[in-house]
Amino acid sequence: MSTAQQIPFIEAQDPAIAAAIRGEEDREANGLELVPSENYVSKATHEALGSSFTNKYSEGLPGKRYYGGQEFTDVIENICIERACKLFNCKYANVQPLSGAPANLAVYSALMKPGDTIMGMDLSHGGHLTHGNPHTHSAKIYNFVTYGMKDPDTGEIDFDEMRETALAEKPKIIIAGFSAYSRELDYQKFADIAKEVGAYAVADMAHIAGLIAAGALKNPFDYGFDVILTTTHKSLRGPRGGMILIKDSEDIFKKVNRAVFPGLQGGPHMNNIAAKAVAFGEALKPEFKAYAQQILKNAKAMADVFERENVRMLGGGTENHLILADVYGSLNVTGQEAETVLDEVGITLNKNSIAGETRSMFDPSGIRFGTPAITTRGLKEKESARVAELMIEAMKHKDDQAKKEEIREEIRGIAHAFPIPDSFVK
Ligand SMILES: *Cc1c(COP(=O)(O)O)cnc(C)c1O
Repeated sequence: MSTAQQIPFIEAQDPAIAAAIRGEEDREANGLELVPSENYVSKATHEALGSSFTNKYSEGLPGKRYYGGQEFTDVIENICIERACKLFNCKYANVQPLSGAPANLAVYSALMKPGDTIMGMDLSHGGHLTHGNPHTHSAKIYNFVTYGMKDPDTGEIDFDEMRETALAEKPKIIIAGFSAYSRELDYQKFADIAKEVGAYAVADMAHIAGLIAAGALKNPFDYGFDVILTTTHKSLRGPRGGMILIKDSEDIFKKVNRAVFPGLQGGPHMNNIAAKAVAFGEALKPEFKAYAQQILKNAKAMADVFERENVRMLGGGTENHLILADVYGSLNVTGQEAETVLDEVGITLNKNSIAGETRSMFDPSGIRFGTPAITTRGLKEKESARVAELMIEAMKHKDDQAKKEEIREEIRGIAHAFPIPDSFVK
C-alpha cells in the first residue's frame, strides 16, 4: 500500500524537484482529500504516464498519422478508444484532448461558428467556468446564455425558463453539466428542449464520468444526447486529461476530430493516452462499480451529518459525489475561513460561491467537497460520517487551537488507517 514512487534519477540530479515530489507524497498520505474533482491514480496508471510514449509525436489518428514510427502508439490509442466506447456505450471517441477545458473548446468549435449561441448552466448555480465565464476565451467567441435552478434548496432546474430562453435565443448547443451541483439531471428534458430548438444536446460529465461509467448515475446517451465530453482524472480515476464521446453520428465525429487536431491542438500526449487506456481498463472491472456505489453512499453519509447538524446544503443534500454547504449562513464561518481551518486540520477542500451569493467571490458563503478520493482510500459510511462531524467541529471551533490539534490528530489517524492504494484491481 502507498509504495513511494521510485525516482532515483531525479534524486541524483535534481534534489529540489525530488524533495517537492516527496513533499507532495507526504501531503497526500497525511491528510484527507475532499476536493470533489480530485482522486488518486493507480501505480499502473502512474507507470503508463512515466513511459516512453512521452517521447513520441503522433499527430493524426490511428492509421492516419503524419509521422512514422506509430506501431505502438496506434495500439494504445485504439485500445483506449475501444475501452472508452465500451464504458460509455457509444460508437466514437476522441481521446486526445489534453484536459477538460480544451475538450470543451473542441466541442464548441466543432459544432458552432464564432458568434453562435450556446446555453449552459449559470455559473453561480453550479456550472463550470468553461460554460460561459466572461474571462474565458470561449466567452469572447460565443454568445453564452444560461439556465439555472428554480429553487436552490431543492436544486430543481427551471426547465420552463430554459425552454423559453432556448426558443428566444436559438442556441446551437445546450450543455448539461456542472462542477458544483449535487443533484442528478433530468437529461430527457434537456434533450427534448434541444430537439425542439434544433440544438445539439451536449453533456459535460467531467465530475461524474466515473459514476456514469459504473452505472451509478444516468448516462446522457440513454436520453438522446449527441455528444458527451469529460475529464478523465476526476471520479473516472484516470490521468489528467480530456475526452470527447459521440453517440453514433459519423458527421459529428469527423467535425470533433478536426476541431481537436489541427483545430486546437498539435501532437497528442501519448503517455497520457496510454495511462487513460490503463485507467479505463480498471474502470471496466467489477470493482469499479462497487467503488462508484460507495462514492455515493459516502457522500450521503456526510450529507446526513450536515443535515442533522442543521448546516444548509444547496439542493437540499446530495444525489451524487459532492456537497455544497452554506457554512456562512449556517455556522457564521465564511467559505475562506472554513477552507483555512479545514486545511489546518488536514482536510483539503475549496470555498465556493452559492446561488444567491451575498458575499464576494474571494470569500464566499460556501464550501464544496466530495467523496471520490476518500472512497479510493477505502473510507466507508462510518468513517465518512465521522469526517463530516470533524469538519463541523473544526468550523465551530475555528479559533480554538487545542481543539484543532485534537481534530488534526484524529484526521491523521484516519489517513494512516486508510493509505492510498497501489492498485484497484484484484
Ligand atoms: C473540471 C471541469 C472542466 C475542466 O477540466 P480541466 O481538466 O480542469 O481543464 C470542464 N468542465 C467541467 C464540468 C469540469 O468539472
